[in-house]
Amino acid sequence: MSDGAAESTKRPRRILGFVSLHYVPAFVAIVAMVGILVYADWQHQSAAYQEQRLASLDRLNQISSKLQSDIQGNLHLMRGLVATIEALPDMQQAQFSQIADQVIQGQTQIINVAAAPGLVVRMVHPYAPNTAVLGLDYMKSPTQREAVLMARDTSAPVITGPVNLVQGGQGLIIRLPVFLPRENGKREFWGVLSSVVSLEALYNRSGLLEAQRTERLAIRAETRDGLPPEYFFGDKALASVDNISVSLDVGRETWVIYAAPKSGFGLSFADIWLFRLQLLLAEAIVVLPMVWAGRLMQERQRNLVMLHEREEAMRLLSHRLQVALETSQIGVWEYDPTANLLVWDERMKVLYGLPALARTACYQDWKDALHPADFAQAQREFTEAATGAGEYRSEFRVVGKDGSIRFIRAIGNAYVDSKGRKKIVGVNWDVTEDIRLQADLRRAKRQAEDQNRELEKAHLRMENAALHDALTGLPNRRYLDQVLADMDGAPGEADVTVLHIDLDRFKDINDTLGHAAGDVILKHAAQALKLNVRGSDFVARIGGDEFVVVSRMPGTVEEHSDMATRLVEALSKSVDYEGHECRVGASIGIASRTDASEPVEQLLVDADIALYEAKRRGRNRVERFNETLRLNAVNTKKTADDILRGLEQNEFVSFFQPQFDATTLEVVGLEALARWDHPVKGLLGADTFLKIAENLKVLAAIDEIILNQALMQLNRLKLAGMPVQKVSVNISAQRLREEGLIERLAALPILPGTLSFELLESTSFDGHDGELVPQIEKIRALGIDIEIDDFGTGYASIVTLLKLTPRRLKIDRQLIQPIVDSEPQQQLVRSIIDIGRSRGIEIVAEGVETMRHAEILRDLGCHYLQGYALARPMSPADLLPFLKARNWMPQPLLENVG
Ligand code: C2E
Ligand code: CA
Ligand code: CA
Repeated sequence: MSDGAAESTKRPRRILGFVSLHYVPAFVAIVAMVGILVYADWQHQSAAYQEQRLASLDRLNQISSKLQSDIQGNLHLMRGLVATIEALPDMQQAQFSQIADQVIQGQTQIINVAAAPGLVVRMVHPYAPNTAVLGLDYMKSPTQREAVLMARDTSAPVITGPVNLVQGGQGLIIRLPVFLPRENGKREFWGVLSSVVSLEALYNRSGLLEAQRTERLAIRAETRDGLPPEYFFGDKALASVDNISVSLDVGRETWVIYAAPKSGFGLSFADIWLFRLQLLLAEAIVVLPMVWAGRLMQERQRNLVMLHEREEAMRLLSHRLQVALETSQIGVWEYDPTANLLVWDERMKVLYGLPALARTACYQDWKDALHPADFAQAQREFTEAATGAGEYRSEFRVVGKDGSIRFIRAIGNAYVDSKGRKKIVGVNWDVTEDIRLQADLRRAKRQAEDQNRELEKAHLRMENAALHDALTGLPNRRYLDQVLADMDGAPGEADVTVLHIDLDRFKDINDTLGHAAGDVILKHAAQALKLNVRGSDFVARIGGDEFVVVSRMPGTVEEHSDMATRLVEALSKSVDYEGHECRVGASIGIASRTDASEPVEQLLVDADIALYEAKRRGRNRVERFNETLRLNAVNTKKTADDILRGLEQNEFVSFFQPQFDATTLEVVGLEALARWDHPVKGLLGADTFLKIAENLKVLAAIDEIILNQALMQLNRLKLAGMPVQKVSVNISAQRLREEGLIERLAALPILPGTLSFELLESTSFDGHDGELVPQIEKIRALGIDIEIDDFGTGYASIVTLLKLTPRRLKIDRQLIQPIVDSEPQQQLVRSIIDIGRSRGIEIVAEGVETMRHAEILRDLGCHYLQGYALARPMSPADLLPFLKARNWMPQPLLENVG
């Protein structure tokens, strides 16, 4: 469908693009009226113009002929005077005056008369004012001569002027020749009679001055002998405007009088517009009704078009609605509650399974189709909508004739029709599919949720594994950290107590009976802990044989201490492992807080300090964190800072304690021992800082410093010609595990057999430190000897130690000291020496405090001796003088030798 074509039939065509057809008559009328108007206007103006010109001309003619006749009249009078002179040529002044006075007879135009016989003025009238002229010889007057002669020669009057008069104003001069008749019929020239005529008088009489009130006037004289024309009256500019003119002959001249109205010919501006206004008014009276009619027609047309468009839109809308209802299978119904009448469209019938053309549906059809289970509710909802004013919204099932069940959704709205009757109109549609889909979705959602729950469980299991210790099932360190962090995040729980538990002698069992036994002990310990804490307490295993209990229950100090004591007792009970009765002890450190602002992590640190104290005080006991411990901790912290500073300032130096051959007492080696040359406290021994340095993880650094100084010292002694063979340095477990150690040692200039590393027997070489064994192998491969230090104090299995095949064993001074007084102790030392010798391991005894000790040890077969009896540790400066002085050698012995 073409909109353009439809439009052209509906919309009025336009002329000139903007005037609608309805305005054509009005438009034509306006054009015609404008034509008429213009013509009438033109006609009106030109008629007025002509009329005015004619009137003007008429007036001018009158003036002109009056002028003419007056001049002629004057000439006539003068002629009469001439005739008198001809008759009385010898008259004298008195007679002349009398005659002239008679002739003029009070005539005002003639100002004076002069008679000049023989061209010399002899008589004048009036006499008195003109006596001056008497005797004037015209032949001698250049202004008069020509005119006078012309009058004589032409025998005709000569009129000249205008001339300015002596008495003011202008005048015409009329000159008449006077001839005296003679007997022979000839005439003899007598002279001239001249008179002056007042022009003002002439003008006045002719009406010229009168006319000047309304008109512009001008007079021009045209002389016959070709002189330029000359204006002598009025406005000479008049010649150049629209005017009229008449001419008259005055003597030898022709005068042209011009005239034009002051406002010009034609109508005044106001007159023109008044006329035009009248015309316009007349036109408006004709045209306006036509425009109005056009407007009405246009409006009508527009309304028609609008109506058409609305109809079209309506048609389109209902078409769309039809299509929409058709495709969506939505049925429309209308219910009239007053008449209890229900109207269904065809689709409603399809929805409810009624034959299409059967009959009109009724309320009963709907009720019959409802599913029995939904009947009551559907019914109620519909009634509510029908009685109330509001919306109708319902969903119900209907049962088809074939027994199939469908879900129907119904929506309706009440409205009042044009007759004021309330009705409800609404729609129904089949939502069976939707509902099925929703059910499917719900099912899928449930499944997904189930899966999520499974995943969650798996995740929990995994997390549990990550947060628990596999062996004991207790929470691990990570879990503990989380619990503590959570407690810090959640305010309010002020009362917290932390117990840090460490099993005593656990390592011994592990080393002697193996890991399996250790595992049994740990499981037993975990069980014992769980049994002896309160339900809300949190128990974790945080390391090999370390446990933590976090108690959030408020309780007195005694209650917690009692619990700790109970735990120590429970943990100390013996456990049977493959017939062995295994027994461990436990040390416990306790720390509590009652102030929520104190970080829980600090409690763990404090409990650790208390635990350390418990162990220091002999193990198998409970120690509570207190002010003293806190102060110690603070001191330790201070010392730690001081150590770091000391390291930077190179305050750590090496002292050297000589080692002697047990038989010859010659110095064979040195042990390098760390000292701190403190700027304030002076020289500090190893026991004051080594433990803290170890915790600070700077022990390896100190070891390295000492090693370098030891190598330097050995070199120095060698250069000094001293027979010292070797130097020993103590090496910490930290140093052993240090990264890049082997590479750094390899770079040092070490002669095989000149350097020993002393390893503490308490260092655990197997178990989780098992990696130390290959490390020691590498050190040995560099030509560095290995010595086991403090031998006999630790609980290391001798088998493990021997696997390291050390070069020497250093028997601890705790074992050496009693040998002087105790036979069994001597036996013990002897057996150690024997084992060593049988394996080719050299024996060093330390803590040799008396020469008696030295003798016994020599006799027991010990190779080397070290102790205060022979030499104390000394500074490098003291070393050389000491070695040279040889003061340690026993004098009597020397005498004997000598
Ligand atoms: P140690 O390896 O057993 O060193 C011998 C210790 O015994 C030294 O104490 C020494 O002064 C002392 N001593 C020597 N002869 C006698 C004696 O006849 N009677 C008594 N009662 N004591 C004697 P010091 O220098 O205080 O060192 C203590 C411990 O510190 C050393 O025991 C060693 O384990 C450690 N140590 C010392 N220097 C270093 C070092 O540079 N690195 C490492 N890792 N540990 C070191
Ligand atoms: Ca040592
Ligand atoms: Ca030692």
